[in-house]
Amino acid sequence: MARIIGIDLGTTNTVVAVMEGGEARVIPNDRGSRLTPSVVAFAPGGDVLVGESARNQAVVNAARTVAHVKRKMGQPVATEIDGTRYSPEAISAFILAKVKRDAEQYLGEEVREAVIAVPANFSDKQRKATVEAGRLAGLTVLRIMNEPTAAALAYGVRGEDVQRIVVYDLGGGTFDATCLEAHGANFTVKASRGHSHLGGIDFDRVLADRVLAEFRDQSGFDCSGDPVLLQQVYELVERTKIELSTRNDASCALPFIAAGAQSVHLQFQVTREEFDHLIEDRVQESVALTQSAVADAGFDAAGIDALVLSGGSSRIPLVHTMLREALGVNEVALVNPDEIVALGAAVQAHALAQSEQLIHLRDVVSYSLGVEIDNGRFVSLLPKNTQIPVETTRVFTTVSDNQDAVEIHVLQGEHPEAARNESLGRFLLTGIREGVRGEPRIEVIFSVDADGIAHVGAHDVDTGARQTITVHPVPDDDGDTSRQIQRSVESLIDRTINQRRSAASTVDAAFAKEIEDLVAHARRALSRDDVKTLRECRLALETVIDELSIQAGGGLQERYEGA
Ligand code: AMP
Repeated sequence: MARIIGIDLGTTNTVVAVMEGGEARVIPNDRGSRLTPSVVAFAPGGDVLVGESARNQAVVNAARTVAHVKRKMGQPVATEIDGTRYSPEAISAFILAKVKRDAEQYLGEEVREAVIAVPANFSDKQRKATVEAGRLAGLTVLRIMNEPTAAALAYGVRGEDVQRIVVYDLGGGTFDATCLEAHGANFTVKASRGHSHLGGIDFDRVLADRVLAEFRDQSGFDCSGDPVLLQQVYELVERTKIELSTRNDASCALPFIAAGAQSVHLQFQVTREEFDHLIEDRVQESVALTQSAVADAGFDAAGIDALVLSGGSSRIPLVHTMLREALGVNEVALVNPDEIVALGAAVQAHALAQSEQLIHLRDVVSYSLGVEIDNGRFVSLLPKNTQIPVETTRVFTTVSDNQDAVEIHVLQGEHPEAARNESLGRFLLTGIREGVRGEPRIEVIFSVDADGIAHVGAHDVDTGARQTITVHPVPDDDGDTSRQIQRSVESLIDRTINQRRSAASTVDAAFAKEIEDLVAHARRALSRDDVKTLRECRLALETVIDELSIQAGGGLQERYEGA
């Protein structure tokens, strides 16, 4: 049977592991290292370098080297090299393809399937982007699992009788705190909290800022415009930071920096106490999030059986001190924090490959998922920390008479105003039975699968008209096909005209002319299939419809049965 690998696709390093002889083991790369730097570089000759070779040339090739791409997963951004645009997924795929090749070389067989771990607070878009990166690398991603859950799995299956586990995962770029209950091989995530921009890179930045400011004061030389020098300073402070995890003071030096016509030395001394002071606020932020997760899980501090530390930055002594004080726990399980996530992913990969279920894992959604209703409010259908997989339904209705279509806007987040949450996508349910507003019954079905990916369906209870989708990226991300955009603009034009009619008496002449012009403009864009203009029209028409709804009393509103 082909083996399935477990991958920790980290911000800083990527680790790959596999089950061998009943134990999860890390697979070394072609250089014999257990960690592969998550760095991709485009050499001038056209070669793509990945891992150590990419990191080692970063100083001299900073503009063509991509690091920390994990922080950009799911975003509509690209790195342009020699006229080719690489999405964060495409860059990540180079890393995944490299660890796939290393695993194949180590195992002596082809590897086609993987379990990839992601931060618990990765959004729906970031999870889908990770699956896509795997696909581009030639891997079928059997499961996306949460990193802290993987860490607990690696810890828990060590045969210890642990009941309540708190995983504190502080990596290069992200932080997660997760509380789990383990009863033998049954793992249930009770709560998780996290921060997508908190980690070792932030500690490097505060230390680098300090070093650069002091250097500027002493030498009068400002390095901030020199990317090569800055890269060297960042590498230097990272080494210094790591040294401070085991020593009380450290010094760093960059000799012979060219400053105008002369050369100067950059030299810096820092004590652990000073460093602790620089990072204290950010560490405190992570500790407060951990306490919130513990409270969400309903654990009392005395009942925590193990605190599992994962991620390279959890080696910082200040982290241990502050966590122990805040949670009142003594035991800190520091099972090689760099490798524990990949080991857990390998355990899960192995369990998935077996016909009988070896491990029962229940994870949670880390954000509330819901829809926007008529007045811009956000209605949560699945509150955060709901266990997955899960499905729920809710009945909504129309907001204007004879409304034959509703647009359903799906979002994730915690804010009561829809605009303040992250948009996951929109879709249109057409063919609604014509009726008085408030009468049609539209059932929205929301489900989240075991990978934490959302699927949304809607149907008109009376006509049976139905739409089921895996939530697409927001239209502005070029996620919609031109046909989808055309259809939604056609429908929006109809709705605008209908609503303009029902609000006839309240629409003033200037607004009426604006609506007329917009509809004509949208029709011209439809006849030319001008996607860019159609996108603009869609937004404009939505705005007009909102305005008309306010004036006349269309969209989606909660339906109160029997009310
Ligand atoms: P990860 O994303 O888990 O690979 O964590 C990488 C981050 O951990 C980087 O920011 C490293 O600088 C940091 N790191 C690794 N080892 C240590 C250490 N001993 N002390 C402090 N930070 C570390």
